[in-house]
Formats: sequence, C-alpha cells, structure tokens
Amino acid sequence: MKKIKGACHCKKVQWSLILPVTTVVQCHCDNCRKMQGSDYSTWIAVPDKQFFVESGNELISTYEFNERPCKSFCSSCGSVVYGVNGKHFNGHKLVALGSAEKYLKELKPQIQVYTENKAEWVQIQEEVPIFAGK
Ligand SMILES: [Zn+2]
Ligand SMILES: [Zn+2]
Repeated sequence: MKKIKGACHCKKVQWSLILPVTTVVQCHCDNCRKMQGSDYSTWIAVPDKQFFVESGNELISTYEFNERPCKSFCSSCGSVVYGVNGKHFNGHKLVALGSAEKYLKELKPQIQVYTENKAEWVQIQEEVPIFAGK
C-alpha cells in the first residue's frame, strides 16, 4: 500500500492518501479560479476512504457554496487542503495537488476540464486528455 503525504503551508494540517488515486484533474473553471486565486487548479481525486487528515483537523475550515461544502482550508495559513465535488466525484476528496509533499509520477494530471474557460496564455498539455462533458 503506497501512501502519499501532504500538508498545508504552515504544516499544521497534515494529510495522507493511499494510492491508487481515481484521477488527477486540471480544472480551468471559474469556481476554482476564484476560490484558488490562480488561473487553473489541479486536484487529486481520491476516494474518501483512502484519504486521512493526520493532524490539524480542528484547524480545517470549510467554505460552503450553494449550501454545499466545497473547499476545506487551513484556518491558520489559508492553504486549501481539499475540495469536494458531489456532481462529478461523488464519494471523493479532491486534494489540492500543490499540498502534496512531493510531485510523484502517480500525481501527473490525467484529464483537463473546463478548458473552454481557460486563460488564453495557458498552454494545453497535449498529452493530457480534455474532458468536454459537464
Ligand atoms: Zn496551515
Ligand atoms: Zn474547477
């Protein structure tokens, strides 16, 4: 059982996940753009039962949008830890790729979504398939 570890910027929130992940998604949608403050976001989709908050659970705050929890972040440093998306990834955590301790090959993006909303300067990586559905 291979594990991947990660943490927020202040390292008070630590997490681990067990491979394999379901997929790794690069998302160009407007919600991610606003919530992350970056031009696109990359998420590790992992089943709930394979994701563990190892420490700092009490520091995790959750932002709700449309009365649903959608982004959980460290209230000490503000780093996003994970999100949820019940529509496309029911029963999953969407863990912020940037919070992973190391960029292991298992974390390479596998799909790109909402590419129609992407910034024009963002180069689509040819080898990462585009998922056009909603
Ligand atoms: Zn933190
Ligand atoms: Zn998004």
